[in-house]
Amino acid sequence: MRYTLDTSVQYLKGVGPKIAELFGKLGVKNIEDLLYLVPRDYVPTRSIKDIKVGERVYIIARVLSTSVEPSSKGDMFVVKVTDGTGNLDIRFFKYSPRARHRFRWNKWVGFEGEIKLWMNKPEMMHPSVDFNPPDFPYPYLPIYPLTLGLTQSMVRRATLAALRELEEELSEEILPEEIVKKENFLPRHKAFWYLHYPPDMEYVREASRRLSFEELFYLQLLLLYRKQTYRRKGIAFPKGSRFSRQFLELLQAENPGFKLTKAQVRVLWEIFRDMESPYAMNRLLQGDVGSGKTIVATFAILKAIEAGYQAAFMAPTEILAEQHYISLKPWFEKLNIPIALLIGSVRPKDKKRIHEEIAEGKIKCVVGTHALIEEKVKFKKLGFVVIDEQHRFGVMQRVRLRSKGRRPDFLVMTATPIPRTLTLTIYGDLDVSIIDEMPPGRKPIITKWYKAHEREAAYQFLRAQLDKGAQAYVVFPLVEESEKVELRAATSMFEELQKGMLAGYSLGLIHGRLPGAEKERIMHAFRDGKLQALVATTVIEVGIDVPNATVILIEHAERFGLAQLHQLRGRVCRSTKQAYCLLISSPHISEEAKERLSWLEKETDGFKIAEKDLELRGPGEILGVKQHGKMNTRLVSLLTRQFKDERLIFKAINDTLDRIRMYISNIMKEDPLLTSPQHYILQRTLAQRYTPSEFLLDSG
Ligand code: ADP
Ligand code: MG
Repeated sequence: MRYTLDTSVQYLKGVGPKIAELFGKLGVKNIEDLLYLVPRDYVPTRSIKDIKVGERVYIIARVLSTSVEPSSKGDMFVVKVTDGTGNLDIRFFKYSPRARHRFRWNKWVGFEGEIKLWMNKPEMMHPSVDFNPPDFPYPYLPIYPLTLGLTQSMVRRATLAALRELEEELSEEILPEEIVKKENFLPRHKAFWYLHYPPDMEYVREASRRLSFEELFYLQLLLLYRKQTYRRKGIAFPKGSRFSRQFLELLQAENPGFKLTKAQVRVLWEIFRDMESPYAMNRLLQGDVGSGKTIVATFAILKAIEAGYQAAFMAPTEILAEQHYISLKPWFEKLNIPIALLIGSVRPKDKKRIHEEIAEGKIKCVVGTHALIEEKVKFKKLGFVVIDEQHRFGVMQRVRLRSKGRRPDFLVMTATPIPRTLTLTIYGDLDVSIIDEMPPGRKPIITKWYKAHEREAAYQFLRAQLDKGAQAYVVFPLVEESEKVELRAATSMFEELQKGMLAGYSLGLIHGRLPGAEKERIMHAFRDGKLQALVATTVIEVGIDVPNATVILIEHAERFGLAQLHQLRGRVCRSTKQAYCLLISSPHISEEAKERLSWLEKETDGFKIAEKDLELRGPGEILGVKQHGKMNTRLVSLLTRQFKDERLIFKAINDTLDRIRMYISNIMKEDPLLTSPQHYILQRTLAQRYTPSEFLLDSG
């Protein structure tokens, strides 16, 4: 049988269907998965003459005799063994006749356990026993993550078999020769051997340095390749700015003295230049909450519509979609441009009509949720797409939306500033525009952290603000999973506030289990100033824009991540009034939570907060786990083998990504689509690692 990386592990010597099923529980299906099953630690193998008390070791030795020693706590069982360098007693604190039977005289057995003193003599206590020890004295043996029923010995036999069977396939170099030389990498098959069976720990680091580089390299190659394919052809929107001028006049009529910020102007210029070029645009627009992205997106949408195209604006939740719709609608109406909202909760009859009008090209701009990418939605002439909060969508959704037009221009917006590392690993295929300036007159939000026993003081401050005519959000995170529990918790917490801390004020409650219409009614009441405070149970529920809401109070603030808190706080710094964010923590919170909360009190720069957030969350997040599932777990475990201190990983990835982007841009300068024979291996490896839709995003 010829083995390849795709071969199921069950065909490996010593595995079979039963053990393969157990491997499946670890996410290991084929040989490739197995080779990337990164050991969580290693145990040294020792000759008996070299053992030291206190050390955890693996020895392979021959059974000399077995005996049962009675003791006050029951029978103990002792196996005498030798490996030719010395003798050792192996002691088990429990005896079973069946176990004794397996230690046949002269049989070679592996023992893994700690050496301890017993009656002043070194012995091995309570070891795990391996009746199928490796046939070679590897200096270290891997310790793998396991699942019930699977033993180290089974996994070791499987990885040894895989490494041997795949020797030839793994010997093929998949990185350009130059890079291997410059980076001073181990040959590939050696890297795999040393990852599992290292001569010493330095080799583990070297192996993982190479293998993690490969992961990052191919991910960047994928993204940059994708970027090249986007660059082929697209829509070249004609110059023209009738709508832009009208829109600006509208904004100025609403807010006398309105002027786009310098950052908005720069970004708009970048977007327009892309739109006018014959290439399809794929641009990421980053900017802190309230920095004015929506207005920028609106200018771009109008430009597309002026050229005779339709535009789609997709948001991850119904409330966000509605929010965008509500802010765009008055402008579009004044400009006489038909706009529609398409979300799941639209009545079937209306939905049908909207579908028809989109297909006929009557609706020029449609704002919506995932409902936009449903099969039934067909555009007459989709030319421009805005995706808000892209990190909540996967790449596939981008693909589906893209296929609804002929290479429409894409503008991806994200309100959470993304640190550079993440930008490169998730959005490496996009061009980036950043709005790094707030509209004029914004006062930095004042954030104060109240400890659990200061809760009353926080509410006192809140009441004083409400008395002055301000409106407020009160956020309660609910962690309960079940619908019933969540409902009960939301309601009882609301009643408690109504009777206690906020008695006498008009409050509204919004939680995840409310029907859409009810949610909308309450939100409208809040926006119209009929409610003084809106009590909400999740983050998304407060994704609305109410200029008079200037206070946000967050209970159990320690349960939120830094970026999430910053995002929440952004809900109240949307006007020129002074805004406040009150964080109340629970008693007894972790040191890390304290660090988070005090950071937030001091820092208002969204980018700095996002960097810190990632650092606190660790390497899994750095790489955008959700976006690249399997590859990612692999990469993270390789990196954790390489660095003891998680915080070093952050910098290392950044530096490595820089070098990789440079290598790849050199390669692509000569051969943008990797078609030359010398790059065959790059193409092939890409195709092996990713599905066609992952690297060719233009089915349209
Ligand atoms: P984002 O989408 O980045 O969160 P928005 O586009 O919703 O931000 O803008 C936030 C608020 O700031 C809105 O009320 C918007 O009208 C206002 N705004 C945007 N740009 C400007 C500007 N240049 N000058 C004054 N106000 C602005
Ligand atoms: Mg917005």
